[in-house]
Amino acid sequence: MNKKKMTRREMFRYAGAATVAGAAALIGARLPGVAEAAEPPAAPALPKIPRRVLGKTKETIPILLMGGGMKFDPNFDPRLAEGLRFGVNYVDTADCYAGGASETGVGGFLAKTGKRKEMWITTKSCNHTPEGLTRTLRQSLERLKTDQVDLLYMHQLEHEKFLAPDMADCAERLKKEGKIRFFGFSCHHGNVAELLTKAATLPWIDSIMFKYNFRDYGNDKLNRAIDAAHKSGIGLIAMKTQGSAVSFEDGVKKFEEKKFSRHQAVLKAVWADERITAAVSHMETLDKMKQNIAAALDKTALTAAELNELHRYADATQHLYCAGCQHICNACVPAGIQIGTTLRYLMYHDSYAESAKARQYFAELPAEARRIADVDYSAASAKCPHHIDIAKHMHRAAEVLA
Ligand code: SF4
Repeated sequence: MNKKKMTRREMFRYAGAATVAGAAALIGARLPGVAEAAEPPAAPALPKIPRRVLGKTKETIPILLMGGGMKFDPNFDPRLAEGLRFGVNYVDTADCYAGGASETGVGGFLAKTGKRKEMWITTKSCNHTPEGLTRTLRQSLERLKTDQVDLLYMHQLEHEKFLAPDMADCAERLKKEGKIRFFGFSCHHGNVAELLTKAATLPWIDSIMFKYNFRDYGNDKLNRAIDAAHKSGIGLIAMKTQGSAVSFEDGVKKFEEKKFSRHQAVLKAVWADERITAAVSHMETLDKMKQNIAAALDKTALTAAELNELHRYADATQHLYCAGCQHICNACVPAGIQIGTTLRYLMYHDSYAESAKARQYFAELPAEARRIADVDYSAASAKCPHHIDIAKHMHRAAEVLA
C-alpha cells in the first residue's frame, strides 16, 4: 500500500472534509446506496494525536477525549471508529447521559468491534453514596458490556462532604474487585476550587474532571487549587472548555483566526496548560470531531496575539457568560427554576446551533423548571457575579426552548 505521512495542509483539509460522504471515505465505511469502489485509493498513514500522562495513574491518554454527554448509536457509532483511527481512544460517559443511551451506545460499539482493550472507558455515577454508587456501577458495566471501567467518577460533585472515608473504602473495594482501575470525581458548579483543594489532601482520588477554560486564566483561587491538585499527582481533565457565552454580540460573533477557528483556539488554550492532561469534548457531529482532531494534531502553539484575542473575547462576553453557579441565582426565584441549566441550554441553541438538542434537554426538565416566562428575575440578576441580564435571557429561553 502506498502509505505516506499526512502533512499539516492535509490535516486541515481533513478538518474541512465535513460531508457525510467525505467522512465515510475517511472512515473506510460504505454508506447505504453508495456503490463500493472496486479498488479503494491508497490511504495516507494517519497520525495519532499527542498523549499525556494522567497524573498518579501513570497511564497515558490522548489530549482530546470524546464525551461530555454524547449519545452513541448502539448499532455502530462512526464517531467512535473515527476517533480510534486518530488515537482518540478515551470515551467519557455517565449513567445519566441520554437516559443511559450514552453507555448503551458505547457498549454496542465494544460488543460489535471487540475493541475493549484498545479503549479507555470512563463512566460516572450521579449517586454519591457508597451503596448507590456500587449499584449504578453494576448497571453501567452491564450497559457498557464490560467487566471493568478504567475510571469511575462521582458525577457533578457539589460538596466536600461526599469526599468521606466511607467513599474512600468504597473506591478501594471496587478496585480490589476489579470493577474499576481508578477513581475520582467531576465538578463544574461554583465550588470547583474548594473541591480541588480538598482532593489534593486525599490519596484515594486519582483524577478529577472539572470546568476549566480560557476564561479562568485570571482566576487566582482556582489556579492555586489546580496547582495543589496537580502537585499531589491527581490527573486533571478539563471540561466545558469552549467557555461560550449565552449569546454572542455582533462584534465577537465572527471571531475567527487565520489559522484556527475560535473553537479550535480555545482547545489549544487549554492544552497550553501543562497541568491539564486532556480536554473532553462533546463532538456531536463528525465534522466537529474533525475540527477538534485537526486542532490536536497541529502542534503550532497559539501566538501572543491569538491569546490576547481570546482574552479580549472573554472580556467582551463576560456579562453573557453563565458560570453555572446557580446556587446563587436560583435562591432568588420560585423553587424548581434552574437558571444556570436553562442558560446552558440556551447557549446550545444560540451559540452551538444545536437547537433540537437544546429543546429536548429543556423538555426533559421537571414542569416547575419550565415555568420560566412570568417570573421576576431582578433579584437574581442583582446577585449574579457576572452581571448577566437574567430576565432577558430567560425570556428568550421561554421563546425558543419551550
Ligand atoms: S446566571 Fe449568574 S449566578 Fe446564575 S448560574 Fe449563571 S453566572 Fe451564576
